[in-house]
Amino acid sequence: MSSPPALELKGLTKTYGDKHTALSDVSLSIRPGEIFALLGPNGAGKTTLIGSVCGLVKKTSGKVFVFGQDLDEDPVRPRYQVGLVPQEINFDPFFTVAESLYIQQGFYGQPRDEARVREVLTALNLQGKANAITRALSGGMKRRLLIAKALVHKPKLVFLDEPTAGVDVELRRDLWTYVRKLAAEGTTIVLTTHYLEEAEELADRVGVINEGRLLLVEEKTQLLKRLGEKRLLVHFS
Ligand code: ATP
Repeated sequence: MSSPPALELKGLTKTYGDKHTALSDVSLSIRPGEIFALLGPNGAGKTTLIGSVCGLVKKTSGKVFVFGQDLDEDPVRPRYQVGLVPQEINFDPFFTVAESLYIQQGFYGQPRDEARVREVLTALNLQGKANAITRALSGGMKRRLLIAKALVHKPKLVFLDEPTAGVDVELRRDLWTYVRKLAAEGTTIVLTTHYLEEAEELADRVGVINEGRLLLVEEKTQLLKRLGEKRLLVHFS
C-alpha cells in the first residue's frame, strides 16, 4: 500500500469575521519527502494556510489530513509530527537557549533530551550558546533558534514561513543548505516565500497562491520550462 500524503487539504476555507475570505476552497496534496514552495504576495493567505494546519487558525470549512490522519478526528497527535518556523519570534526572551528547547520538547509530549538539544544546536551553528539568554542573541542567531525550536521534536513535516525574509546572505545560504539536508533525510518541507528565485532554488514543486486561491501547482522543472530555460537563478555559493 502506498503511503498517504504528508499533507492533504480538501476545500480548505478560512473567513475572518463576516466576509474577509483569506483562504478559498484550497485543495492540495504534498508528497512525503518533497520540498514544496508556496509562492504568493503579501496577504495571499500563506500564513493562514500554515496556521490552519498547525492549529493557530480555526478553519471555517474543509478538511486537513496530516500523514493521512484527519485533524477533525484528532487535532493533537498528528500535529506532534509537525514543526513550524514562524515569521515572528516565539520564544521567551528571559529563558536560555537550551531551556527554550527543553520547553518545546515538553510541549510535544517528549521527555527532556539533552543529546537531541545538543544535536540541533550544532546543526544550526548555535553550539556554545546553550546557556545564553535568548534576548541577548543577535537577530541571525534568533532566526537559527527559531529553526532549532521547530525541529527539536524531530517532526516529519516542517513549515517554514518566509524563512529568509530579511536575513543576510550567509544565513540564507546556510538555511537553504539545511533545508536540502532535512529533505534528503526524508523530512517533508513546505516553505512560503515571496521570491520566485527561492522557490526555484529549493523546491520540487511550486504552488502559487493569491487572494486566498491556489492558482497553480506545478513541478518546478515544468514551471521553469514554461518561464524559459534561460532564467537567471540566484546562487549564493
Ligand atoms: P504575508 O506574506 O504578508 O505574510 P500571507 O500570504 O501570509 O501574507 P495571511 O497573513 O495569511 O497572508 O493573510 C491573508 C489575509 O487574511 C490578509 O488579507 C490578512 O489581512 C487577513 N488576515 C490574516 N489574519 C487575520 C486576522 N487575524 N483577522 C483578520 N484578517 C486577517
